[in-house]
Amino acid sequence: MQKLVIASSNPGKLRELQAMLAPLGIEVLTQSQLGISEAEEPHGTFIENALAKARHASAASGLPALADDSGICVNALGGAPGVQSARYAEGGDGGTAAHSPPTGRELLRQQADTRNNEKLLRLMRGLADRRAHYYCVLVLVRHAEDPQPLIAEGEWHGEIGFEERGSGGFGYDPLFRLPQTGKMAAEMTHDEKALVSHRAQALQTLLQRLAAHGSYLAPP
Ligand code: IMP
Repeated sequence: MQKLVIASSNPGKLRELQAMLAPLGIEVLTQSQLGISEAEEPHGTFIENALAKARHASAASGLPALADDSGICVNALGGAPGVQSARYAEGGDGGTAAHSPPTGRELLRQQADTRNNEKLLRLMRGLADRRAHYYCVLVLVRHAEDPQPLIAEGEWHGEIGFEERGSGGFGYDPLFRLPQTGKMAAEMTHDEKALVSHRAQALQTLLQRLAAHGSYLAPP
């Protein structure tokens, strides 16, 4: 069976990607299962960070790797937090979580999510323009130096609510409201989110590209 490593240790992303990839008949491994550390994300664009993560996981595992770089972009804040979404709040640091032992990492991420949401709500106080979108870029490489990665993007448009609601999803989901339903992303089921999210859209496009390339993942 074809194996693929997901270049992320974010449990929220992993849950979503693994569920969406499950029907494909690919054995999906996570980088933490293989003892691979998280890559640095020093770049100012999502695509550069995703590529760095995919190459890092592929180099360390010797397997094809799929990386996700994503974030939330708020119109009234000039697109912030954007690529800094995981590390938005001072002291609330996705980077710290990335370098912690796995046992403490999930707790640190949840604490960072809470502080990030608090900061976002604080900065949005009094602002009438609540428009925001999630952005996700997925990068698939067959090997660490792959000159022709498969790349796909997705955007999910909504608005920032006035208070946190819901217990599903992760990250900014308790604040991300869909105007069509009035629901926060954190009030949607996994299946509902997996039909419409930025990550779902990006994955759909990636799978179409994969199908169009036929033997992309086949060994040379
Ligand atoms: P990355 O590891 O740099 O890609 O960080 C992505 C960050 O963006 C996450 O830690 C969340 O804060 C935010 N984010 C991305 N996708 C989602 C989502 O589907 N729901 C909630 N927050 C998300």
